[in-house]
Amino acid sequence: MHSVRTLILGAGVSGLATAAALGDDDYLVLEADTSIGGYCKTVKKDGFVWDYSGHFFHFKHKEIETWLRERMPGQRVRVVEKKSFVAYGDRRIDFPFQKNIHQLPQAEFIDCIHDLYFADLARRTSPPAETSFREMLYARFGRSIAEKFLIPYNEKLYACDLGTLDKDAMGRFFPHADLTDIVRNMKTPDNASYNSSFTYPEGGAIEYVNAIASAVRPGAIALSEPVVSIDVDKKIAKTPKREIAFERLVSSVPFNRLAQMCVVEHDASVFTWNKVLVFNLGFDKKGPEAIHWLYHPSRETSFYRIGFYDNIFDTDRMSLYVELGYPKDAPVDIDAMRVRVLADLAREKIVTNQRLVADHSVVMDPAYVHITRASMKEHARVASLLREQGVHSIGRYGGWTYCSIEDNIVEARALCVTLRA
Ligand SMILES: Cc1cc2nc3c(=O)[nH]c(=O)nc-3n(C[C@H](O)[C@H](O)[C@H](O)COP(=O)(O)OP(=O)(O)OC[C@H]3O[C@@H](n4cnc5c(N)ncnc54)[C@H](O)[C@@H]3O)c2cc1C
Repeated sequence: MHSVRTLILGAGVSGLATAAALGDDDYLVLEADTSIGGYCKTVKKDGFVWDYSGHFFHFKHKEIETWLRERMPGQRVRVVEKKSFVAYGDRRIDFPFQKNIHQLPQAEFIDCIHDLYFADLARRTSPPAETSFREMLYARFGRSIAEKFLIPYNEKLYACDLGTLDKDAMGRFFPHADLTDIVRNMKTPDNASYNSSFTYPEGGAIEYVNAIASAVRPGAIALSEPVVSIDVDKKIAKTPKREIAFERLVSSVPFNRLAQMCVVEHDASVFTWNKVLVFNLGFDKKGPEAIHWLYHPSRETSFYRIGFYDNIFDTDRMSLYVELGYPKDAPVDIDAMRVRVLADLAREKIVTNQRLVADHSVVMDPAYVHITRASMKEHARVASLLREQGVHSIGRYGGWTYCSIEDNIVEARALCVTLRA
C-alpha cells in the first residue's frame, strides 16, 4: 500500500499552499478534478480571459504578495482602483449603497436618512437584538436602506432567508458604515472598502495558483483522483485507484463531504449553502466604460452582480461575468437562463449594439456557505473531533466560512507551522 506522512485533499489554493509550506516533508496532494486551481481557475476563449467568477485580489500581507509575484516571471499584474456602482432604477449609485444614499431621488433619500437616524437613535438608547444578518441590517441601517438595497441584493446572492444567517455571516467583507460615516460621505466621498484597489494578473487568477504550485514538489500532485472514503482509525484514504496510508490528513474538501467520508457523526442539516451560476460573456464591441462591478438589487433582474473584465484589462471588446444565486437544491437551466440574462442585459442598457461572440458558464456549488449559529457550532465541534484524529479541515469550504485566497494561504501556512513542530 502507498503510504505518505501528510495526505492533502484538493489542489485549490488551500491544498497547494499547504503542500508548498510543508517544504521537504513527505506529502501527496490528491485532486478530484483534471487540473489544479479549484475555484481559482481561469478560462481563455477567443481572446477573452475569464475566471470561474471574477476573482480579484487585495493582499493585506505584503510578504505573501511578494512571494507570489517572485514566482510569476514575465506575468504582468494590473493594479486597479475599483469603480463599482449599484444599478438603481435608471441611476448608478456609487457602491456601497449605504454610504451614498444622497445620490438617490430626494424622496427616497429622505426615507433613508430618516430611518437611519431613528435606527441609530434606537441603537444608542436601547440596543435591539441583532442575532441574525437581517436583524443587523435593520438595526444598523434602518428600514429604507435595508429594503431598498441590502436585503434584496443579499437575498439574491445568498438565495436564502437572511433571518437564518448569523449577523456576522459576511465578516469583514460587509461594508459597515455608521451614521457619521454616511453623513460625512455626503460632502467628502470616501467609498474605500476592504478592496478599494485590487490586483489582477493578465493571465487570470490561475497565475497566482501556478505561482503557489511552483513551490510544490514535482510529481506530488495526483490529478483526477478523488478521495472517496477515509478510515480515520486506520488512517487510510481510498480513491478509485488505490488505498493510501497517512499519518495526518489536510482536507480542503467541503466540510459536510469530509464529515461524510470520515463517517463521523454530525448534523448534516446545519450545513447549507447557495450555488452561483456564472456566465462569462464576450462581445464584439466595447460597452459601458469606467465600471468594474455593477450590483443589481432589483428582483426583476436575474443576476445580482456583473463585472467588466474589459475595463480591468483596458481592452476594446466588452467582456463580462454575470453571477446568479440559487438555493443548493434548485435546478439550474443554463440555456434558458442565458437567454434571460441577455434580455436583462439589454433592458439594463449594458448590451446595446454589441454581438455576443464567445461564452462560457460554470456552476459553483457550493459558492457561499450559509454561516449560521448552528453551522458555526457544529463545524467547531466536528472539526475538533477530526483534529484529534489527525484530520485537519481547512480552506473556504473546509472551514465553512467566507474568505479570500490570501486568507487560505495564511491559514495553510499557520497549520504547517504546527504540523512541522
Ligand atoms: C463567487 C466567488 C467569488 C470569489 N471571489 C474572490 C475574489 O475576488 N478574491 C479572492 O481572494 N477570493 C475570492 N473567492 C474565494 C476563493 O475562490 C476561495 O477562497 C478559494 O478559491 C478557495 O480555495 P480552496 O482551496 O480553499 O477551495 P477550492 O478552490 O474549492 O479547492 C478545493 C479542491 O478540492 C477538490 N476536491 C473536492 N472534493 C475532493 C475529493 N473528494 N478528493 C480530492 N479532491 C477534492 C476540488 O476539486 C478543488 O480543486 C470567491 C469565491 C466565490 C465563490
